[in-house]
Amino acid sequence: MTTVRVNRKAAERIAAGHPWIFSSDVLDRGGAEAGSVVLVVNERNRTLGTAHYSSTSQICLRLLSRRAEDTGREFFLARLRAAENYRRQVVSGTEAYRAVHAEADLLPGLIVDRYGDYLAVQTLDQGMDRARETILDCLREIYAPRGVVLRNDASVRAREDLPLISQVACGEVPGRVAVRINGFLFHADLIKGQKTGVYLDQRENYLAAAAYASGRALDCFTSSGGFALHMAARCESVEAVDSSPETLETARANAAANQTAGIEFREANVFDLLAAYAAARRRFQTVVLDPPAFAKSRAALEPAARGYKEINLRALRLLDTGGVLATCSCSHHLSEAMLLEIVAGAALDAGRTLRVLERRTQARDHPILLTVPETHYLKCLLLQVL
Ligand code: SAH
Repeated sequence: MTTVRVNRKAAERIAAGHPWIFSSDVLDRGGAEAGSVVLVVNERNRTLGTAHYSSTSQICLRLLSRRAEDTGREFFLARLRAAENYRRQVVSGTEAYRAVHAEADLLPGLIVDRYGDYLAVQTLDQGMDRARETILDCLREIYAPRGVVLRNDASVRAREDLPLISQVACGEVPGRVAVRINGFLFHADLIKGQKTGVYLDQRENYLAAAAYASGRALDCFTSSGGFALHMAARCESVEAVDSSPETLETARANAAANQTAGIEFREANVFDLLAAYAAARRRFQTVVLDPPAFAKSRAALEPAARGYKEINLRALRLLDTGGVLATCSCSHHLSEAMLLEIVAGAALDAGRTLRVLERRTQARDHPILLTVPETHYLKCLLLQVL
């Protein structure tokens, strides 16, 4: 195994429980090859762990283990099994869930989403990409899937100098896979759909938000229609909005498959639509805001904060007293405290008083590591207008 030496700052970061080492903190790469497994040592040559090495990314090393360890098939099988055992504890009522959540399952750079008999896999860094065949082999052993899609078109792979591709890796995968989530049928295009087919991280929040929903509801950034479908039974009417026509087509198919009446799907830019509805004095009793990540980097935090404030302010102007706002952010750079502050600012500007019903996060099959803040990316606040 090649040995890579890192500086004190990197050693401290590892001691603080974080698995990443930045290239600026690497002292000697020891001639490591792209995607290889390396031994990481500190300035005094003491072992810090075993890591995947990336030759191009700013995140140069991703720790797999805190000791010198063989990371062959046995290693992957044990980690993947542990991930699946955890899902058995926390996942219920769904055929689709995230089976592996990268760092949070001690498998940095690896995502596995299960859609019933099918798996969608992402190997997002050079190391995981190189270990791909071993990983697929272990996944076949654990899940015996009918088909596996390698959903490797995520833009982060460009930083690793890896090609962006989405293809069937083994078995057969239909154009649309149907899965039950919380009793609702969802269609997922595993090869071309958003994320790996469906946004699985909001599964628990759909139920929580629907429990407070009533009257006329507006589901902004609906994607496959998850919030809308869950709210429909409790509401007089639901309007579901997204700017992507392909996504809306799937959402309409989902509504039809569940024989859900009363959802009106609309293709629009949410920013414009909220402004137009405020001008027209339209009123709602429930509004959901689940925008894409506005802050894709730390540098983008300020404009992102303005964007979040804007949509929350506009949504609050549409809500009746007693109405409920479910507002989300999936930017890991934006902490829950920041989101609370932004929404509080919007509430003050709109002259509304908000009560916190629930402060939620991503579903438990997307676990969070206490010392790795990046794993806590989704925030979902359920608020009531007093
Ligand atoms: N609520 C969804 C996930 C939303 S993801 C779910 O539970 O599945 C964000 C969605 O916002 C995407 O579907 C994207 O197409 C849409 N989107 C992005 N910018 C938009 C805009 N300005 N107006 C409307 N929709 C937008």
